[in-house]
Amino acid sequence: MFQEKISMEVKKGGNPIFTLSSDCHIFAFDKRNEPALAINSGDSVQIQTMDCFADQLKTAEDRLDSIDWNRINPATGPIYVEGAKAGDTLKVTVEKIEIGAQGAIATGEGFGLLGDEMTGMSGKLVAIRDGQVVFDDKVTLPVEAMIGVIGTAPADDPINCGTPGSHGGNMDNKMIRENAILYFPVFTDGALFALGDVHAAMGDGEIGVSGVEVPAVVTVKMEVIKDRTIANPYMENESLIATIASDVSIENAISTAVHDMKAILCDKLPLSLPETAMLFSAVGNVEICQVVDPLKTVRFTFPKWVLERYS
Ligand code: CA
Ligand code: ZN
Repeated sequence: MFQEKISMEVKKGGNPIFTLSSDCHIFAFDKRNEPALAINSGDSVQIQTMDCFADQLKTAEDRLDSIDWNRINPATGPIYVEGAKAGDTLKVTVEKIEIGAQGAIATGEGFGLLGDEMTGMSGKLVAIRDGQVVFDDKVTLPVEAMIGVIGTAPADDPINCGTPGSHGGNMDNKMIRENAILYFPVFTDGALFALGDVHAAMGDGEIGVSGVEVPAVVTVKMEVIKDRTIANPYMENESLIATIASDVSIENAISTAVHDMKAILCDKLPLSLPETAMLFSAVGNVEICQVVDPLKTVRFTFPKWVLERYS
């Protein structure tokens, strides 16, 4: 059945690149999900994703109040990474994000931070051309493509793809862009990785409840790191390391993100705990990812150039 949904091509002198169709998708991260594809550590996969509405808004006539709300936030996968075991870490390098030519934005009554002043649902389709999101005839926004939903299967009960957590999920962290390297806890054999919910643009907070939602093709490389256990996801890019934490309480999420950073950096910084706290306080940034999902997500960032001074 998956024959036409998966293909493989071998890079010259490299590991294979697989392609996974968005027909293979999940609505919950769940250790009992059947894998859609099995790969080896070091392989890359081109993952096709639907937008967070499962591509149900295609034309101006498609109405938000008539879409199937059971088909929200599909994530393509899950992908079984051979050798990954509970207690390992999954390293995911975002090699490429290619997005569709049209985006959908939605908000409405009871959704997001202005939903208390609205009645009914509102949706908007926007063209994406020449690297710009055409919001209206006055404003175009630069495309800054990012991945909203990305993660591994959790240890216990399934977690729907709209909710973030220690497994990743709907973190809506706009730093998850091309060239980001993410690290996820592995809770189950094969890790059961999936991703979806790509945005052409999104502001920190995602205050209206959606970004500029787009279908996409995302290429990621997955590697298993043995004998290294982390509690929550974190990431790095060219310039910084960012721990990512989600909680009902934003204060608790911030506390988790800062403690996680201390745990990651303690053996890289030849500093006492008070000095580490002083340095974090002087140069670390607490930033908001999103405040509209069932748990809220923050990141704590620390610049790599400071770390390099101690290496
Ligand atoms: Ca999202
Ligand atoms: Zn989204």
